Amino acid sequence: MSAVVAAERVPGPVRAYVGLGSNLVDPPGIVRAAMRAIDRIPSTRVVSRSRLYRNAPLGPPQPDYVNAVVALDTMLDPEPLLDALQAIERAQGRIRDGERWGPRTLDLDMLLYGSIELRSARLTLPHPGIASRRFVLQPMHELAPELDIPGIGAIADALAALPDSPMVAL
Ligand code: ATP
Ligand code: CA
Ligand code: CA
Repeated sequence: MSAVVAAERVPGPVRAYVGLGSNLVDPPGIVRAAMRAIDRIPSTRVVSRSRLYRNAPLGPPQPDYVNAVVALDTMLDPEPLLDALQAIERAQGRIRDGERWGPRTLDLDMLLYGSIELRSARLTLPHPGIASRRFVLQPMHELAPELDIPGIGAIADALAALPDSPMVAL
């Protein structure tokens, strides 16, 4: 009995999903390097990675993006995980020029953190862009076709509701 109680007190890892995007310099190389960097975040392990997809950009005219999604297990809380993801963005030389959805060497969005819904100054979970973005939903569906997204529902239904648009796997 006491062993069971003790085991229940140990917090387990949380399954989270991170979206990766790059459209400057060497997008496929940067996305693959970022996947390796995410796997090196302390107390965090990448458990699966989607294919890489080439996509036309949102926002102002700019080069095509390469997008992908990874699933990870982490013992970090959401904000420290965001800190680690932003450190990887900075290490890739990301420049913020203030233009929304402008070109960038690396963008890492925390799409889901377990089934947590939260809204703080730094972090909204699930990420608000999920339901409308095929370049997020399709690779996430590749990793977790049975996923239920808080506030959105079954990922397969969300994907089926999107207008068709071409996504070319690299
Ligand atoms: P979008 O969020 O629409 O994809 P973006 O990725 O271009 O746009 P950024 O400039 O990368 O936006 O991020 C702006 C801020 O969003 C970050 O400083 C971060 O604090 C905040 N943010 C809120 N929720 C999240 C999340 N789930 N994942 C990553 N950043 C988030
Ligand atoms: Ca983004
Ligand atoms: Ca972002």
